[in-house]
Formats: sequence, structure tokens, C-alpha cells
Amino acid sequence: MLRMHLAGTTAALFACTLAAQAQQAASPPFATTKVTDNVYIFRYGGHQSMFIVTPAGVIATDPISERRPAKPYVDAIQAVTKAPIKYVVYSHSHFDHIAGGKPFKDLGATFVAHKNAKARIAALKPDDVVIPDQVVDSKRNITLGGTTLELNYVGKNHSDNTLVMRLPKEKIIFTVDWIPIQGVQFREMADTYVPDIEEGLKKVIAMDWETLIPGHPGPGGKQTTDNAREQLAYLQDLSAAVKNAVNENKSYADAQKEIKLPKYEAWPNYNAFLPMNIERYFDFWNRGI
Ligand SMILES: [Zn+2]
Repeated sequence: MLRMHLAGTTAALFACTLAAQAQQAASPPFATTKVTDNVYIFRYGGHQSMFIVTPAGVIATDPISERRPAKPYVDAIQAVTKAPIKYVVYSHSHFDHIAGGKPFKDLGATFVAHKNAKARIAALKPDDVVIPDQVVDSKRNITLGGTTLELNYVGKNHSDNTLVMRLPKEKIIFTVDWIPIQGVQFREMADTYVPDIEEGLKKVIAMDWETLIPGHPGPGGKQTTDNAREQLAYLQDLSAAVKNAVNENKSYADAQKEIKLPKYEAWPNYNAFLPMNIERYFDFWNRGI
């Protein structure tokens, strides 16, 4: 019996490995996608950034080159235009998105981030993160070659320094790690401010835009205001369910075992991350953390 079980587990692991290899073989390590005439997505592994091309230069965002060369990103931009890379704007301070900017700095780019992001980076001094040259407080516009990019701060959410970058003419927003395309929140929602994230989502939903570019590709499909509405609904449903469990004196373990949100069960990582998302809201309702 034990041997059969082990054999089954080994076969399942082997099947998973094959599936993962097939997926890796199917998707190249990086890719550039044109969104509009002047706006592109650069995907690098499981991360992605937006870059904007104008006659006067390029506005790039997150270098997404932690522990890997930034050259593919620089090459992707230079394959579209020979105009100089004028700016690199950080979405927020997390290293997996902002590391690896030195080649952009060497080409003369000005680095911009929220003021709290600069403070965090300056305090932690990670080796491979360029310290921002300029900061944003509540709002700033960058206008270059006839294109305006708004840098909006809508409060604390997935960090205390997340920017919502909006192209008003193109009706596109780029914001990272807190409005996934049909996804639960990442693991235990580290660095996430509850309930501020729900207020931030309401502010983003109220903005004028049509297309969302997230920092991870997700399962693909539509990238619209619906994604922001669905994420707000998910967090509100999660919060209400966990609040009930706390009111009923449930333990962490029982809340994690008993709370199901079937509306969202088709989302990637639902089974893996929902218990961790529950723990984050349990801390909030139980301890005010
Ligand atoms: Zn992040």
C-alpha cells in the first residue's frame, strides 16, 4: 500500500515536472508586446514592465532584472527605437521588480520613484538597485515628446510606495502586484496594508482608464477595469468571511480550513494562497495588525 502510494506520488511529480518543462519550452524567456502605437509591454520570465516610446525618448518602468542581465530589456527597447531612454520609473520598492537598473543609469536615464520607495531603498541599500534621482509625493506628471504619463499615489496597498502610472490619452494604467489579472493575493500578503488596499482599489476604479498592465502576466485574457472590480470584491468577500470566523472565536487553523470562496476557485493559486491570504486578514480582525 505504502509502495503504491509512493509510486503514485513519484508519477505525479514526474508528470508535474514534464508539464513545467513543456510550459517553459513553449514560452520564451522574454517577449515584447505592442499595446498601442507608443506603449509596449516587456515580459521577462514571470515579470513584466511597460515602456513608452516618444520622438524625444523613452520612459521605461521597472528594470525587472534581479540576478539576471538587464540587457534583454535594453535590447527590446532599442529594437523599437534608437531614441534615448530618458526615465526609469519604479512601480514600488520591491527588489524583484526594481533590481538591475544600472545599464539604464549608464545610458543616462533619470530614475523616479515614490518618496517612500526612495527612503526604503536608501535604508536597505541593496547592491543591485539604483537609488532614485527624483521622487513623487501624491502626484506628478512626466511629459516627454508629446506623451504625458501621470504618476499617482493612491495610498498604502501592496507597499507604502506603490505608484499607479496612468496614460490619460491612451487610457492605460500600469501598477504592480496588487491588481492581478484574476488572481488571489501573493502568499501571506507581505508588506500589504489592510484595509487601506481596499480604499486604494476604489480610487483606481474611479480613474479614467480602460486597460490594465500588471507586473505579472497572470493567466492572460482581458485586462480591464473588471479586474480591479473583481479584486476589490475578492478582498471584501475574504475580509467579511474572516471577520465572521474571528467573531465566532475560530482558530487560525480552523478559519484556514473552513473558509471557502468558490466564486474565485478557478483563479490560479487559489488553493495555495487562499489560506495565507486568510491569515493576513485574520491578523487584522483578531489583533488589529
Ligand atoms: Zn511587490
